[in-house]
Amino acid sequence: MRIDLHAHSTASDGTDSPGALMEVADAAGLDVVAITDHDTTAGWEAASAALPPGRTLVRGAELSGRWYGAEPTVGLHLLAYLFDPGHGPLTAELARVRRSREQRADKIVALLNADGIDVTVPEIREYAAGGTVGRPHLAQALIRRGLVATVSEAFAPEWLGHRYRLPKADIDVFTAVRLVNEAGGVSVLAHPRASSRGHIVPDTLIAELAEAGMWGIEADHMDHPPADRAHVRALARDLGLRVTGSSDYHGVNKTVRLGASTTDPLVYQEMISTATGTVPLTG
Ligand code: AMP
Ligand code: FE
Ligand code: FE
Ligand code: ZN
Repeated sequence: MRIDLHAHSTASDGTDSPGALMEVADAAGLDVVAITDHDTTAGWEAASAALPPGRTLVRGAELSGRWYGAEPTVGLHLLAYLFDPGHGPLTAELARVRRSREQRADKIVALLNADGIDVTVPEIREYAAGGTVGRPHLAQALIRRGLVATVSEAFAPEWLGHRYRLPKADIDVFTAVRLVNEAGGVSVLAHPRASSRGHIVPDTLIAELAEAGMWGIEADHMDHPPADRAHVRALARDLGLRVTGSSDYHGVNKTVRLGASTTDPLVYQEMISTATGTVPLTG
């Protein structure tokens, strides 16, 4: 069984539609794929409808979390799986973050305009195509103007990585863990050692999150060098957290291929027997 539990579609900052994502997963030989768009479940329905025979879809999302217990505060991503998409308090938090993302994009456009870069708000909305707005959509506008060549160049400090970076509203990470659990889902800390984001998630915080009911942690991820993967595995063993491996596929917005990292079938079995918010779907 090949299982990839982290992939993005055009419902956020991936470049494959949810339906196309199912086809790519099929072609990659994945038995199980999770759709985990940023702060939304908008891709669930179209992905479900496009599920090829014999392939399984895990419906999830990647929540924009933040830990307020340090100065500066620490942004982190929490994967949530198999939660009830109708859970009011959780959906309200997701909607709040999506609105804040739109407002942040508008402000970044204004900053770029002030420096004579003529990107527009309607253009960014068009790239987002109704999905969750993210910095990769601003990166598209910079690429279109020939200011940078790739999405990853657009994340350099002189662009969206620092100079034109603004905060968005996030979900207090302890609240996020609690809401996912209340909605019958399970939560997994995404790429905790991805230092390209300017920081790593401290082990002490991971221990507190485990205590608060977080279910697992991503060890195999392209942003984790081998030593970090080993560190995450050892920490997970100490804390009783399950370990996942996933691609974090974003279509052509990132170089990683779907299925580049995978999750142990035993961990997947435990996930689906724990979650109660919704079920995996098999085509
Ligand atoms: P946002 O969630 O809008 O703050 O944007 C963060 C998203 O940008 C991440 O989820 C990735 O999809 C993407 N991203 C972040 N850093 C990079 C990078 N160095 N190269 C390409 N994409 C990146
Ligand atoms: Fe992303
Ligand atoms: Fe992430
Ligand atoms: Zn992701």
